Amino acid sequence: MIEVSGLRMSYDGFEAVQGVDLRVSRGEIFTFLGPNGAGKTTTVEILEGHRKRTAGDVRVLGEDPERADRWWRSRVGVVLQSSRVEPQLTVRECLELYAGYYSAPRSVQEVIELVGLKKRSEVRCGHLSGGQQRRVDVALALIGDPELVFLDEPTTGFDPAARRSAWEMIDGLRQLGKTVFLTTHYMDEAEALADRIVVIKAGVIVAEGTPTTLGGRDRAAYQITFSLPEGVEIDELPVASARELDQSGKVLIESGQVMPTLRSLSDWAIGHQYNISDLLVRRPALEDVYLALTEAPK
Ligand code: ATP
Repeated sequence: MIEVSGLRMSYDGFEAVQGVDLRVSRGEIFTFLGPNGAGKTTTVEILEGHRKRTAGDVRVLGEDPERADRWWRSRVGVVLQSSRVEPQLTVRECLELYAGYYSAPRSVQEVIELVGLKKRSEVRCGHLSGGQQRRVDVALALIGDPELVFLDEPTTGFDPAARRSAWEMIDGLRQLGKTVFLTTHYMDEAEALADRIVVIKAGVIVAEGTPTTLGGRDRAAYQITFSLPEGVEIDELPVASARELDQSGKVLIESGQVMPTLRSLSDWAIGHQYNISDLLVRRPALEDVYLALTEAPK
C-alpha cells in the first residue's frame, strides 16, 4: 500500500527527514512513533500528497502522491490533527454533504454507527464536545470508503472511555480490510492497535518491530518488583542482583531466568514466613523501550 525509499525533506536547509524507508502492507495497522519534531507529520503530509518532498521515491497505492489525481484521493482517507467540521450542520447532514463528493460512498448511517455517534447524529457539529468532533473527523475520512486511512493522533483529548471506543473503531477498520497509518504519542494505543511500529527520531528511523519485539523487548530481562517485608534489609534477600527501586522500600530484580529466581524468592519468603506484597513480574513496558530508543544518543 505504501513504499518509500530514501525520503528526504529539507526546510530552508534544515533536514527534517533524512533518508526514510518504509513499507506498509494491505490490511495492517501501521503505527508511526516519535518525539515532537521527529518528522512524523512531514512524512505523513508527503504520503498524503499535501507536501512536496526534497528527494526520495514514494509510492502510495502505486502512485506518486505528488502527481495523484481525484481517483487516488477518493481511495485515501485523511484525519488531520485539526478539525474541519461544519458547525451549522448536524452530524448526519455533514456526512451526507461529504458523501456527495464520492462516487461510491459508504452508507451514512453505517459510518455514524462505526464511529459511535448514533445518539448524537441529529446534533449540530458546533454543539459537539471536542472528542465528539474528532469522531466526526474520523467519520468524514471514512465516508468515501477509502482503502487507506491516515489517522494523525486520533484520540488526543479523548476521555478514557472515548479512547477505548475509538480503539474498537480503529480495530473495526482492520476487520473491514482497511489499511491504517496511525500516528500517536500514546504507548497504550500503539500496544493495543499496532501490527507494526516504526520509531523515528530527528528525521531518521531508529527501530522497527511489533509491539512485542520493538527494541528487543521480547529478549529483554524480566523485571521482578515487590515491597521488602518490614524489618528486612535488601542484602538479606536470596538474590544478589536485587536493588532498591525508590525510597518506598520497593525492590527490583532483573532476571533472564525468571522461574528459578521466583522460586528462590518464594522459598526464602515462605521459610521465614515473610509476606511479599506488590509482587509484579513483567517485561519492560513499551514505553520503557520507546524512551530508551528515543532518548539515548544515536
Ligand atoms: P509532533 O509530534 O510535534 O507533531 P512531528 O514528528 O510531526 O512532531 P514535524 O512536524 O514533521 O514533526 O517537524 C519536523 C521538524 O521540521 C521540526 O523540527 C519542525 O520544526 C520542522 N518543520 C516542520 N514544518 C516546517 C515548516 N513548514 N517550515 C520549517 N520547518 C518545519
